[in-house]
Amino acid sequence: MCKSALHPFLAALPKCEHHVHLEGTLSPNLEFTLAQKNNISLPGNDAAFTSPSSLLERYSHFTSLDDFLHYYFVGMSALITSSDFEELAWEYFKHAAEDGVLHAEVFFDPEAHTSRGVPYQTVVAGFKAACQRAERELGISTELIICVLRHLPVESAMEAYETAVTAGHFADGTLAGLGISSTELNKPPANWKAVFAKAEKQGIRRTAHAAEEGPPQYIADALDILHVQRIDHGRRLVEDPVLMKRVADEGIMLTLCPISNVCLKGMSSMKDMPIRKFLDAGVHFSINSDDPAYFGGYILDNYCAVQETFQLSVDEWNLLAGNAIEGSWCNDERKRELRKALAHLQWRRSLQYVYRSLQIFDREYAPGIQYFKIHRTRHPGQAFNPLINERREFG
Ligand SMILES: [Zn+2]
Ligand SMILES: [Zn+2]
Repeated sequence: MCKSALHPFLAALPKCEHHVHLEGTLSPNLEFTLAQKNNISLPGNDAAFTSPSSLLERYSHFTSLDDFLHYYFVGMSALITSSDFEELAWEYFKHAAEDGVLHAEVFFDPEAHTSRGVPYQTVVAGFKAACQRAERELGISTELIICVLRHLPVESAMEAYETAVTAGHFADGTLAGLGISSTELNKPPANWKAVFAKAEKQGIRRTAHAAEEGPPQYIADALDILHVQRIDHGRRLVEDPVLMKRVADEGIMLTLCPISNVCLKGMSSMKDMPIRKFLDAGVHFSINSDDPAYFGGYILDNYCAVQETFQLSVDEWNLLAGNAIEGSWCNDERKRELRKALAHLQWRRSLQYVYRSLQIFDREYAPGIQYFKIHRTRHPGQAFNPLINERREFG
């Protein structure tokens, strides 16, 4: 919890999370528990894997995206059965609900599991069960997004995509779209043109990690070559004012992950996050957690970090929350419900304002009212006439 006076408002704000990797929600505790259950040995030649606490400590000083990805992929090795995947996602959804998330669009990396012998269907069955439970028990609407990995060959991405298509998971709504993540430098979006072109042809929504570490040109390439409908991260868009204007004009949403960018040394401090510049330029963005178990911050922590650094107004937060709803991939009916939740919070704040004003009025005018009452008891025989009494006392 931050020190901002707006913290209760930030906590209550209805949130949409668009950028969280389910595998990035694996805490060291759960990783050790599942590794033991599944007889998986974590690397013995790295002292970080001595205990959950030493692993957590190692997470506090990542040097780059690739340094983090090493631990991210080792962590996944503990996930074997459907129930492991379900437990992992369920832990995340519980945390998200506590943070005020009403709608969550979550990534997963099938290639990282199929490459070590865990079937695609096992992964999806577990995640899908957790999504359904989150909708049923927590009231969170969810969308599952398949994410292909940039550090692997393009053929691997195509195979993962085709597996999902063959399973009928885009057609039956199990999957809401296609994304691409992992190592970014020297992996230009154009390499994955064939995969994204297929998805486009089949009417599947598309998004891409771009300009997290890579140049702003990767955003232009993701838009012009992969024809994505939104950009994950996109932090370095600020370096290209012409492209920034285009992104704003076309209403393309960025899914920013502020704490992640500081943790992975994409920028030296939160002050370098272009929150104010994006707001001034009219760029739509949502604020997200990325890999919260590794970066020490879930979605509300990210909201708080932004607030402590940039002191946004209530109106600006309402605008951000509204843009996040509009940029979501849920259906129109759910969007209407999310808008209603936001309007309800605004209405509650208006009521609180009136109530506080009445309290101030009471405090300011209480002495006068008291004086009035005393005067009345001094003349018990006289019929009480506030107008006459007022004239006598004040005139
Ligand atoms: Zn806070
Ligand atoms: Zn990400």
